Amino acid sequence: SLSKESPANDSKETANPAVDGSELIRFDKVTKRFGANTVLDSLDFTVSSGKHVTLIGPSGSGKTTILRLLMTLTTPDEGSIRVGGDYLTHEERNGGLVPAGEKHVREVRKNIGMVFQQFNLFPNMKVMRNITEAPVHVLGLSKDEAEERARELLDLVDLTEHADKYPTQLSGGQQQRVAIARALAMRPQVLLLDEVTSALDPELVAGVLDVLRDIAHTTDITMLCVTHEMNFARDISDEVLMFDAGRVIESGSPQKIFTEPDHERTRQFLSAVL
Ligand code: ADP
Repeated sequence: SLSKESPANDSKETANPAVDGSELIRFDKVTKRFGANTVLDSLDFTVSSGKHVTLIGPSGSGKTTILRLLMTLTTPDEGSIRVGGDYLTHEERNGGLVPAGEKHVREVRKNIGMVFQQFNLFPNMKVMRNITEAPVHVLGLSKDEAEERARELLDLVDLTEHADKYPTQLSGGQQQRVAIARALAMRPQVLLLDEVTSALDPELVAGVLDVLRDIAHTTDITMLCVTHEMNFARDISDEVLMFDAGRVIESGSPQKIFTEPDHERTRQFLSAVL
């Protein structure tokens, strides 16, 4: 029912397929191994569009691998992944499914943006060009269109004054905010955030999290985050998935997971990190 819509969706006046609560990401029985190490074990999960889902759990439990699979930086050994109803791992041909080709993968992946722990900005480009490069070369926007959009995003991440600087002239927190703007410039449906504050000096963390809170609360974008920032997770998440050894051992609202988890393993993990 409408009353169960997330606050982020309430202001939508027109039906937008990106935020209608339909399924945006689906993992079906995804298994990923590295040698003898089964990192993800027949994993099923779905993320509805417009939702903010946080993955928590001990180091090595497979969280980053999920984001890397979505970015097609790695591929599953078994199972399938769908984004917006399209297979990321497969494509349909002659009525059957075959492993996805490069062109198909590029199309599906256009819906996904990612921000990494290390900001990975282009060091030889000014902030403005870091943000406009892909919209111009991948989406085919004009330079003017791309720059106009970049200025809006620089405003959103509070870096209006820094468009003409090189990444090394910025703090780590500012660089990470540029990386967030750069990811959003491609207008993805999903934003993947992989421990985006872990590489930052402690005093720079709050600025980045504030920007992400703002994005979570004022845009329709779907978010999938891996984070050790439990207060942030509590603030922005619609759902929290607790991982252990490549499986989701429990999931629920942040209130549920952080205050009355069902599993002893979740309690142990939270008491170690909180
Ligand atoms: P998390 O994000 O929960 O810390 P990861 O998804 O990064 O966990 O890693 C899960 C497991 O997969 C770890 O045991 C890690 O060592 C292993 N792993 C990840 N990437 C590789 C790789 N490229 N080669 C071999 N093992 C890997």
